[in-house]
Amino acid sequence: MPDFDAIIIGGGLVGTAVAYGLARRGKKVVVLDEGDIAHRASRGNFGLVWVQSKGFGIPEYQRWTRRSSDSWADFSKALLDETGIATGHERPGGVTICLSEEEFDKRRRLMEQLHLEAGETKFDYSLLRHAALKRLLPAIGPEVVGASYTPYDGHANPLYTLRALHATLLKHGGRYVPDARVERISAAPNSFTIAAGGEMFAAPRLVLGAGLGNKALGAMVGLNVPVRPVRGQIIVTERVSPVLSMPTLMIRQTMEGTIMIGESREEAGFDDTTSPEIIRTLSERAVKTFPFLRNIRIVRTWGALRVMAPDGLPIYEQSTEFPGAFVCTCHSGVTLAAAHAIHYAQYVIDGVLPPELARFSTNRFDVRAAA
Ligand SMILES: Cc1cc2nc3c(=O)[nH]c(=O)nc-3n(C[C@H](O)[C@H](O)[C@H](O)COP(=O)(O)OP(=O)(O)OC[C@H]3O[C@@H](n4cnc5c(N)ncnc54)[C@H](O)[C@@H]3O)c2cc1C
Repeated sequence: MPDFDAIIIGGGLVGTAVAYGLARRGKKVVVLDEGDIAHRASRGNFGLVWVQSKGFGIPEYQRWTRRSSDSWADFSKALLDETGIATGHERPGGVTICLSEEEFDKRRRLMEQLHLEAGETKFDYSLLRHAALKRLLPAIGPEVVGASYTPYDGHANPLYTLRALHATLLKHGGRYVPDARVERISAAPNSFTIAAGGEMFAAPRLVLGAGLGNKALGAMVGLNVPVRPVRGQIIVTERVSPVLSMPTLMIRQTMEGTIMIGESREEAGFDDTTSPEIIRTLSERAVKTFPFLRNIRIVRTWGALRVMAPDGLPIYEQSTEFPGAFVCTCHSGVTLAAAHAIHYAQYVIDGVLPPELARFSTNRFDVRAAA
């Protein structure tokens, strides 16, 4: 039986980021991944590396997100140096557009709260009225009232990021096993054995990075991971000349020139199709924001499923029943990819999650702990 230092279940952005982080520190790693039938948020997302909007009332989440965003440039450069694959990461700052005074007021309150809660870490932001925003994004339409801006926001190509993570994992001696759905885990403290894809794998460390699959897998190693799907729908247009100098929460221009329009959220179970109503709502808002979009052709739409905890926060935990088994899951796997590769992987090696991640423990789902 091949022996590894760590088995990672899940070959999406989360599992592969942790696997890459382990492999580049010299650990022998194998990634077991389900086949093409799996739900794969990593292949259907919007590509923001986004900080504003994260962590109202939970400064730990704001700090963790900022830490990842601050590390993204180095993370992206390391992937480029090692694989020649550019993630397309840019951090020009980003804006959340408001189309009414009511939206703008709400935004103002949220940004003030983030600023107050940031304490020593500080939280730089500006609220821009129409005229000031137009200097940054001349394409906005007359119905745009204003926006919030932070310098921490950016975007990347999630598919190239995933590809680069896979390539560099292999380069560091890691193994990727596709069509290897995990149905059972034989667990003992610091000893895990799995039969999958027609082979057996054993390791003292196990990381559940299987997105929506973590709920069932967690139960096998004493971890309560109550994630559920939340559908998002995305529109992509034909390519146009560079027109948007920075991403907005709902609309961004990719490095290839296409415009992506997204940010819908629906409880639709495991249905990842698109619906005409949502596509219409997204398109209408997009045209109000940037009227030039009225004349641009849509080339593709799709739906994909977010991996969502009940409170929307990441879930980071080590099993007390089976030490050595960790779960790593979140609904912002592009944004947090750098933190997972650089920091979370080290915590797995150390065998201890640090106090700053305590807020993301599964204890918060324990009714007895909350009582
Ligand atoms: C519409 C949409 C827009 C989004 N936009 C953004 C954004 O702008 N910025 C951002 O940061 N995040 C965004 N996200 C979230 C981001 O895509 C996810 O957080 C991230 O992709 C989750 O990655 P993952 O690896 O946990 O899950 P997945 O990508 O779902 O991968 C899970 C993997 O686990 C495997 N698996 C599952 N069960 C098993 C099993 N039993 N055995 C073996 N393998 C298994 C599957 O095959 C799959 O490959 C968005 C998501 C959606 C849906």
